[in-house]
Amino acid sequence: MNTFTFVFLLAVAISFGVHYWLAQRQASYVAEHRSAVPDAFKNTVSLEAHQKAADYTLEKGKLGKIDSIIGLIALLLFTLGGIINAIFNYWAGEISSPIFAGVAAIATTSLLMMLVDIPTSLYQTFVIEEKFGFNKSTIAQFAKDQCLQLGLSAAIGLPLLALILWVMDGVGSSWWVWVWAIMMGFSLLISWLFPTVIAPLFNKFTPMEEGSLKSRIQGLLERCGFNSNGIFIMDGSKRSGHGNAYFTGLGNNKRIVFYDNLVNSLDDEELEAVLAHELGHFKRKHVIKMLVASSIMSLISLAILGWLIDKPWFFNGLGVDQVSNAVALLLFMLVSSSFTFFMQPITAYFQRKFEFEADDFAAANAKASKMISGLVKLYEENASTLTPDPLYSAFHYSHPPAAIRIAHLEAKA
Ligand SMILES: [Zn+2]
Repeated sequence: MNTFTFVFLLAVAISFGVHYWLAQRQASYVAEHRSAVPDAFKNTVSLEAHQKAADYTLEKGKLGKIDSIIGLIALLLFTLGGIINAIFNYWAGEISSPIFAGVAAIATTSLLMMLVDIPTSLYQTFVIEEKFGFNKSTIAQFAKDQCLQLGLSAAIGLPLLALILWVMDGVGSSWWVWVWAIMMGFSLLISWLFPTVIAPLFNKFTPMEEGSLKSRIQGLLERCGFNSNGIFIMDGSKRSGHGNAYFTGLGNNKRIVFYDNLVNSLDDEELEAVLAHELGHFKRKHVIKMLVASSIMSLISLAILGWLIDKPWFFNGLGVDQVSNAVALLLFMLVSSSFTFFMQPITAYFQRKFEFEADDFAAANAKASKMISGLVKLYEENASTLTPDPLYSAFHYSHPPAAIRIAHLEAKA
């Protein structure tokens, strides 16, 4: 045990403590406000729907707390408990090439961590989602998804990891700039390929049929001067009753995707308003701003790793006696969130600011009243709570809480 072990344990304790305390606050706040629909929603949301949202939020919160305890124990066992050390020592004995031994060790660790997550994920889907009527998936579908995700991560991740380790080994102390460039290029490539190559592995995308909805949407796209590679309906109902709409892709490869659930529950004007909101994110350059911010963060993180990589106290302090690039990369990925969790409310603040701007765009280019009625339907159908704890939502929410968001839109209507 060195000083860094103490610093690490302190960071883990603070990060875990803050998350747990916020989750506790959220649970009490939602439970306290369960008995009555908030005034702003008196005429639009039934007491039954409000209470369903409260119960759903409380059950997910309970599972979230258990999940964070499991995560905490796993993190400590993998690092200080010596699991990572054992895995790296094992592969170093089996494979003579340090790069391939590193790839094997990181892959083994990732696989074990994925297994740790499966019980919570099963409980979430087949107990909680099932109980509230959202689950449409089957065990077979779940297993198929897990295998597909694993296969895809291996096919994409392993060669990328080998390339990164090779660069770290070969280019000297400026490796972190090169690795950053590779990661940025790679993530742009994945974003570009996602709509046409990756997403169709998991869902079916059908071009939207000609008709009044499609011409309304095309009218909106023309008004806003937006080019896209098509409007698609996704069979989200294959797995879940939740609905959503999103944009995906880059450049000319952009697609607009509506979940089938959403198209079935919102009327044409509401769908137009929801899409106008999504267009707002593009038109107000939120996508680019987020991309730039995250690439700067990656560069800073890699620079810190570049500094840590030859410090034995970093490895020893986290329970590993081997010093190698692969160990450093893995340890850094595992422990960095305990040191950067205080950044989350800052990111969430900007995300919520962008949501207001996108709502303003929707109000200007479609009907604010339809954005409101569409949102209320979405809150109701997704059983999202209308009464989150103010501190919890300030820390975690990427979208403004329901009442604040609707009030902002009402001022525009
Ligand atoms: Zn948005």
